[in-house]
Amino acid sequence: MLIVKKFGGTSVADAERIDAVADRCIEDYRKGHQIVVVLSAMGKTTDALLTRAQAINPNAPKREVDMLLATGEQTSVALMAMAMAAKGVPAISLNAFQVAMHTTSRYGDARFKRIDTERITNELDSGRIVIVTGFQGINRRDDVTTLGRGGSDTTAVALAAALRADACEIYTDVEGVYTADPRVVPGARKLKEITYDEMLELATLGAKVLHNRSVGLAKKYRVTLVVRSSMNRAEGTVVKEVCDVEGMLVSGVAVDKNAARIAVLGVKNEPGVAFRIFDELAKHGINVDVILQSIGRDETKDISFTVDQEQAKEAVKVLKENQQRLTIAEVKEEKNVAKLSIVGAGMQTNAGVAAKMFEALFDVGVNIRMIATSEIRITVLIDLEDVDIATRAVHDKFFHE
Ligand code: ADP
Ligand code: ASP
Ligand code: MG
Repeated sequence: MLIVKKFGGTSVADAERIDAVADRCIEDYRKGHQIVVVLSAMGKTTDALLTRAQAINPNAPKREVDMLLATGEQTSVALMAMAMAAKGVPAISLNAFQVAMHTTSRYGDARFKRIDTERITNELDSGRIVIVTGFQGINRRDDVTTLGRGGSDTTAVALAAALRADACEIYTDVEGVYTADPRVVPGARKLKEITYDEMLELATLGAKVLHNRSVGLAKKYRVTLVVRSSMNRAEGTVVKEVCDVEGMLVSGVAVDKNAARIAVLGVKNEPGVAFRIFDELAKHGINVDVILQSIGRDETKDISFTVDQEQAKEAVKVLKENQQRLTIAEVKEEKNVAKLSIVGAGMQTNAGVAAKMFEALFDVGVNIRMIATSEIRITVLIDLEDVDIATRAVHDKFFHE
């Protein structure tokens, strides 16, 4: 079997952990499997690197930020190869350039286009464990790119797809995918399995246990994922196309504290206004989520929407630059908000799920500012200060009543 194993930051945080991960990989190697290991940067290294960049230049060129961040993963893979060598196991570390993992050019948010498998295959065939840097790629100028925070999961899935691996295992600091973040909701339950579609929604809506793009890729290339703990042997969660478990109305609750709300006030109440506003934002690569339109005064209307906090400044700038053309009277930005979502394939065929969620929020006196729904999710925008109590209330409404 060819197995891709990915270990996150906590799992390789220090020498002891690296040693334990090496042992776990070697165990499968000795069974005769071919092993490709994908690693994140150690512990909080990526955060620390970002802080250092910020101290030197708060508006650092994005190319240089990626150049810096990529060093985190390079450190991990080199140390892992050394740990394996110390145990007498042939292993080799490779970065994105050495593998040739081609991505689009957008620094900090690059996407895989093509992965050359030749080098990895050759190394595997000569009996080595191959250890690859997560989170990074190269663009057509051969410059280093990164895939966005949490992107190492995506590297693992992309490699599993390109190599046609038999298994893709994501090892992390919890035992699998839970009905809510187990660090926030003590009563959260581990799921035995979850569909790609549900996991994609959860990941996109803030459950960072998997990078959302890794789930999209896994669905596209039919890579079955297993999320499990690097600290123990507990059975993890399988992410796949169809699940056998029936009757789950809601499979999880997700929270995104990284949201900002932008209100565009007093725009003309006529056809084409929303189109021009969102078209302008899209042209600048700004992703908009929950949208609410309401009637203002005197033939005008107000439109509010959410964006990721990193994009809020840019969104306001774009809108202000085009204020007259877009007929905007005023642009307001607010950061103390959070998105709380429930996700579940069972919603499609069951009435009353939204009402149940809103009742849970009412029970704890939390005000809903905006609402968005799709076939398998309901998202509400609430005040940031309410988020923990709201998460527990909603979770318990669906899983403990
Ligand atoms: P890694 O460094 O291994 O990639 P991450 O920190 O990116 O780990 O992701 C694991 C974390 O995701 C967990 O520690 C947990 O707090 C958080 N998390 C959020 N939502 C969930 C969920 N529904 N199930 C499991 N973990 C979750
Ligand atoms: N090291 C990167 C991050 O912290 C990528 C990852 O861990 O997946 O975001
Ligand atoms: Mg992660």
